[in-house]
Amino acid sequence: MSVQSPTYYIRTFGCQMNAHDSERMAGMLESEGYARVEQPDDASVVLFNTCCIRENADQKLYGNLGHMKALKDTRPDLRIVVGGCLAQKDKDVIQRRAPYVDVVLGTHNLASLPRLLRESTAGPAFEILEQTEVFPSALPSRRMSSWHAWVSISIGCNNSCTFCIVPAVRGREVSRRLGDIVAEVESLVADGVVEVTLLGQNVNSYGRDLDGTPMFSKLLRALDRVVGLERIRFTSPHPKDFRADSVAAMAECAAVCEHIHLPAQSGSDSCLKRMKRAYTRSSYLEKVRMVRAAIPGVAITTDIIVGFPGETEAEFQDTLTLVEEARYDQAFTFQYSPRPMTSAADLPDHLPKEVVQERFERLIALQNGFSLESNRRMLGNTFEVLVEGPSKKDPSRASGRTRTNKLVHFLDDGATQGSLRTIRVIAARPHHVEGELVDGPRRDAKRSMSLPLVGAGTACDACG
Ligand code: SF4
Repeated sequence: MSVQSPTYYIRTFGCQMNAHDSERMAGMLESEGYARVEQPDDASVVLFNTCCIRENADQKLYGNLGHMKALKDTRPDLRIVVGGCLAQKDKDVIQRRAPYVDVVLGTHNLASLPRLLRESTAGPAFEILEQTEVFPSALPSRRMSSWHAWVSISIGCNNSCTFCIVPAVRGREVSRRLGDIVAEVESLVADGVVEVTLLGQNVNSYGRDLDGTPMFSKLLRALDRVVGLERIRFTSPHPKDFRADSVAAMAECAAVCEHIHLPAQSGSDSCLKRMKRAYTRSSYLEKVRMVRAAIPGVAITTDIIVGFPGETEAEFQDTLTLVEEARYDQAFTFQYSPRPMTSAADLPDHLPKEVVQERFERLIALQNGFSLESNRRMLGNTFEVLVEGPSKKDPSRASGRTRTNKLVHFLDDGATQGSLRTIRVIAARPHHVEGELVDGPRRDAKRSMSLPLVGAGTACDACG
């Protein structure tokens, strides 16, 4: 790297959408001649891409900005940038609490980053727009992976879940043209990508703003025809919009993985009503049954909020019985915390912390049993795994994901990142399985899932 090259450090908080936005911001900076560095101390530009979904997001940001202030005091030419959802929501607060920040930009104007950086040499450059001016996918990108890519199919959300701040910071739903998405995926595959994850706040309403009717199944079928694309994932569908045509496309398209994340949030109709989720427990479970009937071996995961305002013990029991009926492979469980700018924050009867904690622990114990049961069913069977690289906990081992999105750790034989291998599952834990590589050609996962090579084994002692 030239001594003169400007450098950037980027730190991302929050969801895949933010991770993808960071790839775009990094891409823009690199096309302007910036080089990436791994430490803020080495950077001429430090960028925080923020999230406001979780509690304490602002404390985390201002903690980080406090450290940057000390750095900026010693290097006044350092540029500090704050982008993302918290910036969209709190521009004035950032200006007041951290006046040494040089650039603030929101979720709708990523493309302005290079211009705002130039303008900031003359003083702070803060710009928040209310609508997206350039779809982020039109911007250059610096992907974090050579074999996987996030592909944004829509931005924003037209729903009004009472606990969620996304519509306030990401705006109304806007879909990309189907042809543009297919063209992007074709070019990603030509560049070595074998797996894409389609991103949208509510992927199943994709296209409604273009054609008047949702086109998600059409999109899946179009992408399934891209030669060389091995795996298609997506996140997240809203249960109310998840329809039979999408299930059929999932079942029939060879590249679409046998995994669906279907956020339930609660198993109680009255609680779902207060959340404004627009489905009932029974219509939700009907969709779970439809998926299981159409896609053999499918994995279903979910999100659940515990302790939503006014949640009674009876309502919580409804959530527990929903978990028993749905038998999720995994559940991401959250303790409710009020977020500013959401209507749930103004609901009465917020629950004491200890009540929420106790329910949370009961839910986790129940779900862990189903997660382990689901992983035990894999024992002795073989699965296609996409190798992700060394395990984070034990670099002497490799990690990968099955098509059902199960995390697998296995002894590394030098397996190449992004390669598809076959593994036999030899031990099951609640949140991952252990496997061993099996020689031989990779088999078509959609056909092989119901055809185990070897009979079922036993669970490891550690998991009981
Ligand atoms: S569907 Fe609901 S939870 Fe999801 S982004 Fe939209 S408002 Fe938020």
